Amino acid sequence: MMTPEYTIDYARSRDAADQLAGFREQFHFPVINDRQVLYFTGNSLGLQPKKAGEALQVELEDWARWGVEGHFHARNPWYSYHEILTEGAAAVVGAQSSEVVMMNALTVNLHLMMVSFFRPDKQSGRTKLLCEAKAFPSDQYAIETQLRFHGLDPALHLIEVAPREGEHLLREEDILAAIEDHKDEIALVMIGGVNYYSGQFFNLERITRAGHAAGAIVGFDLAHAAGNVPLKLHDWEVDFACWCTYKYLNSGPGSVSGVFVHERHAYRSDLQRFAGWWGHDKDERFLMEQGFKPIPGAEGWQLSNAPVFNMAIHKVALDQFTDAGMTQLREKSLELTAYLEFVLKQISAASATVKFEIITPASSRERGCQLSILAHGMGKQLFDKLTAEGVIADWREPNVIRVAPVPMYNSFEDVYHFGKAMEKALA
Ligand SMILES: *Cc1c(COP(=O)(O)O)cnc(C)c1O
Repeated sequence: MMTPEYTIDYARSRDAADQLAGFREQFHFPVINDRQVLYFTGNSLGLQPKKAGEALQVELEDWARWGVEGHFHARNPWYSYHEILTEGAAAVVGAQSSEVVMMNALTVNLHLMMVSFFRPDKQSGRTKLLCEAKAFPSDQYAIETQLRFHGLDPALHLIEVAPREGEHLLREEDILAAIEDHKDEIALVMIGGVNYYSGQFFNLERITRAGHAAGAIVGFDLAHAAGNVPLKLHDWEVDFACWCTYKYLNSGPGSVSGVFVHERHAYRSDLQRFAGWWGHDKDERFLMEQGFKPIPGAEGWQLSNAPVFNMAIHKVALDQFTDAGMTQLREKSLELTAYLEFVLKQISAASATVKFEIITPASSRERGCQLSILAHGMGKQLFDKLTAEGVIADWREPNVIRVAPVPMYNSFEDVYHFGKAMEKALA
């Protein structure tokens, strides 16, 4: 890597050398108050691929043309629509095709996975669920209500691993120690693969190994990891995982979620599950007979027929990931985020009034593209000024600004301009 410089020439030279720079043209950038924004919020809602409209139009036309016959006669038959997503999705998370299915929305899928994989056993005393403290609220509520569903008091059966006093990040050694300390009591370890607040990327392989050594099942919420960091769920022997597709996977608000079930479990018909007709043996689905017979593989967890409009957009977005390649995206991501970090440090060093503290890990192995910034000496007011300068970033109480330069569509020049907007906001 060249020695970085906080200059427009340097930023442009990096963009000129960027093999992925062309993807930027494939996205709509919002224009707000007559000005194209500097968009750094792909961690919350990814930008719209320009081909999304066309893909939706295909399905609308086929619906108009065929009505219900579209299930079999549409250009992409709706009956098996989810199948066209599997290969691309499996590549993003490092899974085999039989281990992945796209269905429902993220929190729904977390519940479905816990129904199968959080099986507390009061007899043996293995009743507890271990997660990170201050997990994303939806995950907290899902976990709390799953515990209550089993008649377990969260105050007694939920183990939350927190950062140490005065620290912002979870220490891996503390997670591993908590698993070891409770090794006879933990039924399920379920952690966010990349923390939504700090941007910390956990060592999922090591946590999985520790969980298994303790006799527990290990699952991950990959909302902030899928499409952001390299994943090898199959090789790491993760038991299950869920993710959404509207953050780094650019598939539109509320779009369809993904589920991974490791092949060790995917063919087990003994696992409890909440079933629906779309998970039933394909050959017998329309016989409408009693007795649920799951499709082998992750598809056997499906409930409902495919939300085709969501999926049409997800297909466009996944094709971009296939074209770009996760390895290439990660390579660019590491440099782009390092450049943002460099620019922030330059600004912080030059400012008499404000000191930035980046709470995201400094090590590239432990982070994705997002940096979470604490601006000491300024809070929400700084964020509001940044917004007025045309920057779309994200504010989290009490005082963190999250900035995600996304390798698929952000440029080094974006990062340079972000720095300039920050300087103006500070002035
Ligand atoms: C974004 C996000 C969610 C959102 O859940 P939905 O069911 O898609 O609304 C849940 N958990 C985590 C960790 C997230 O980052």
